Amino acid sequence: MNTIDRERLAALRALKRHHGPGWFRNNYNTDRHGIAEFMRWMREKRGLWPSPKHFPVEHPDTGWLAANREASTLTWIGHVTFLYQHRGLNVLTDPVFGERASPLSFAGPKRYTPPALHVDQLPPIDIVLVSHNHYDHLDRDAVKRIAQRNGGRTRFLVPLKCADWFRREGIANVVELDWWDECAPLGDARADVRAWFVPAQHFSGRGVNDRNATLWGGWVLEIDGHRLYFAGDTGYGKDFADIGEVFGGFDLSLIPIGAYEPQWFMSAVHVNPEDAVRIHRDVRSRLSVGMHWGTFILTDEPVDEPPHRLARARAEQGVHEQAFIVMRHGETRHL
Ligand code: ZN
Ligand code: ZN
Repeated sequence: MNTIDRERLAALRALKRHHGPGWFRNNYNTDRHGIAEFMRWMREKRGLWPSPKHFPVEHPDTGWLAANREASTLTWIGHVTFLYQHRGLNVLTDPVFGERASPLSFAGPKRYTPPALHVDQLPPIDIVLVSHNHYDHLDRDAVKRIAQRNGGRTRFLVPLKCADWFRREGIANVVELDWWDECAPLGDARADVRAWFVPAQHFSGRGVNDRNATLWGGWVLEIDGHRLYFAGDTGYGKDFADIGEVFGGFDLSLIPIGAYEPQWFMSAVHVNPEDAVRIHRDVRSRLSVGMHWGTFILTDEPVDEPPHRLARARAEQGVHEQAFIVMRHGETRHL
């Protein structure tokens, strides 16, 4: 794997352009994505949402996954939730297993594709990567159950200012990082594990008074030199060129491809498939997997459109069809 440009990393880390007084902002884009724009979107769409579609869900071989210590695998549980296995370590991204991406049990985006497995069927998780605190990325029940199942040994890597929320929920094994911060999340002898929190162009909040009070971003996880990039939720901007310059490449990247219509409102915070392919190229990814589609209805595009647009964008940008793929729900891929 390419060596890290430590000088560039230190320079970006020192900037802290995203630190406001009590809240955070994006590095490069300041497009409005606020309540007035949200109201205009709601007014113009007149209550019309795309229809859900039936996506087949495969049942992962949970016994095999639990016993696996050798093979590198990636399993798509749904939306932004992946189980990644490398060198005997089990890593989970943004664990969301609930019925609704909402604080309420009766309202908010309802899940139309069930998770491919339940929390109880997961192998013991070593590391959980949390990108930000939106409901479709941070599911209170799921993280609590994951923490309890593994007797506190699961380490949660979370964005700056998110650790208190986890501690209040009884999860003590938590590390919060600012953009470009590095940590060695395990500190044991199984493998050389390092993680970095990196910028994304997005926002945060779980209630009415906490907009951008906690940070958002993506994660880089390196296990014995094998490098994973989990982009989180993001619009397109210059952050990805920065990430590509610092790290020089990734073996595997998980990049969002859904939740982009209407563009005038969503592009500040969510990429479309064309921009997802640009991210794949900017960060110099060897293999990318599309996420953030096919599970919740969050925006206006037809729910099965992202993979088709991804195929077109790959062709237009000269990216090989095996270099940026989508997976079937519940599929396990050997890497
Ligand atoms: Zn989000
Ligand atoms: Zn999201």
